[in-house]
Amino acid sequence: MELLKEKFALVTGASRGIGRAICVVMAQNGADVAGVDIDPDAMAETAKLVEAEGRRFMSLKADVCEMDEFEASVRSVMDGFGRLDVLVNNAGITRDNLLIRMNSEEWQSVIDINLTGVFNGVKVAARPMMKQRSGSIVNISSVVGLLGNPGQVNYSASKAGVLGITKSAAREMAKRGVRVNAVAPGYIKTRMTEELSDDARKALMSNIPLNRLGEPEDVANVVLFLASGLSEYMTGQVVSVDGGMAM
Ligand code: NAP
Repeated sequence: MELLKEKFALVTGASRGIGRAICVVMAQNGADVAGVDIDPDAMAETAKLVEAEGRRFMSLKADVCEMDEFEASVRSVMDGFGRLDVLVNNAGITRDNLLIRMNSEEWQSVIDINLTGVFNGVKVAARPMMKQRSGSIVNISSVVGLLGNPGQVNYSASKAGVLGITKSAAREMAKRGVRVNAVAPGYIKTRMTEELSDDARKALMSNIPLNRLGEPEDVANVVLFLASGLSEYMTGQVVSVDGGMAM
């Protein structure tokens, strides 16, 4: 079943990890996909995988922190694809440190990319989607935005903030046919989590009822559901994909 037949999607942070898996799952379900990344060359593998599914991939260079660059990306999608049905705000970083040692740069860089980046995306997608009277925005938050985590004051604040943006934007745009939801992944096997020590991994496992780290595809499948018509009566929701960590 092609859940996104004749749909056009924009995914940020599309070069690897969860973003790449989202692009591929969307292409497998019939969507043409535009990927946004600071380094467009890094999206070559994503482009190959999307095109192997017989779909178009548009590679766009933008830093999500910069409103004018995000605006230009949405303009490129409107010019190239003619409409924007799905936006996935996925780009994100970590700069971990204990609160008492965390400096302003570590705080601000995470807030700029993870929180302001999502604000920029929702704002620039809102106009074309409201004009179309349809659209689905999916913001990637984190279990850490729900539960907190030592060493991640900046990251958890940014991811909790994403939930605020999601719910307020959902309320603002529901009457115009635009839905806004969030996904809160747990620990997923990507570059972001690959540096865990054996001890940290063991401690982590004891908090995951399903007893395994997640795969990028575990998140991508839920994003697909929220992007598609299968979830058309859902907006302002946060769906956890975390093996049961935050039940
Ligand atoms: P990842 O492998 O580190 O990938 C992050 C992606 O974001 C990369 O493509 C990166 O591009 C891009 N990016 C970073 N800063 C950007 C910017 N300013 N503008 C545009 N793109 C930018 O991370 P991931 O694990 O797939 O995570 C994806 C999302 O899921 C993030 O929002 C993360 O916080 C969230 N999440 C992840 C986990 C997990 O366990 N992995 C858990 C919960 C939530 P470059 O490669 O060019 O730097």
